[in-house]
Amino acid sequence: MLLLKNVSKWFGGLPALQDVSFGVPRGRITALIGPNGAGKSTLINCISGVDTTASGQILLETRPIERLPAHGIADLGVARTFQNLKLFARLSVLDNVLTGLTVAAERSFFRSMLRLPALRTQERQLRLKALEALDDFGLAEKANWPAGALSYGEKKRVEMARAFVGDPRLVLLDEPVAGLNADETARIARHIRQKRGAGHTMLLVEHDMELVMDVADQVVVLDSGRCIAGGSPEAVRSNPLVLDAYLGR
Ligand code: ADP
Ligand code: MG
Repeated sequence: MLLLKNVSKWFGGLPALQDVSFGVPRGRITALIGPNGAGKSTLINCISGVDTTASGQILLETRPIERLPAHGIADLGVARTFQNLKLFARLSVLDNVLTGLTVAAERSFFRSMLRLPALRTQERQLRLKALEALDDFGLAEKANWPAGALSYGEKKRVEMARAFVGDPRLVLLDEPVAGLNADETARIARHIRQKRGAGHTMLLVEHDMELVMDVADQVVVLDSGRCIAGGSPEAVRSNPLVLDAYLGR
């Protein structure tokens, strides 16, 4: 689904990513792990077009996307969540999820300008779709709450509903269980497994090794902006380079 070839990125003179290369197979969960500051969020930002890639190639299926703006990449079906939540606190939970559909909605808006009743049907359909996504994540009864009034765990689930609402081809999850308690973590793990069962392709950035070992099909390890290991969760867990990166500092 996704192929990274020698992706590099600098901040000022400091390298955040150096020649990162790996593939994200369709219908699988690829976990991206590594110590704090390894470059995981930067990589997610480069794939989603939030950051510009300095050099290298990012192919979605066979299409190079590394020069596209964020909305262009979203338009191609790449959705993401943010490590630090990015919800509109004063908008309703439903409206927040609807923002995950705006690109498609705008297009259909112009198409339906000429047919007003069709526009209303369209809007109803979009709201229905957003409500289904919320229901998926156990939040349908809070659809009309202001997002700011939800608990941290619920907000994390709203972000996931917003990422999945548009039937994305690829979902990038940046630390979906960071800061959550055991119950909330188990709940998110269940949602991730359910989405994988439905055929979704995910790149999962996560610190929680238990979650990674539980849901990932393959693991890629970043350390100081470099890819230092990759393979099955079992192989990566016992790789001495990985143990060094985690424990050797
Ligand atoms: P991770 O998500 O793996 O913890 P990040 O991708 O957030 O790591 O950060 C990788 C490196 O890039 C860190 O050294 C961080 O300080 C630096 N960095 C990240 N974003 C910026 C930025 N916007 N400006 C300058 N440096 C940044
Ligand atoms: Mg990060």
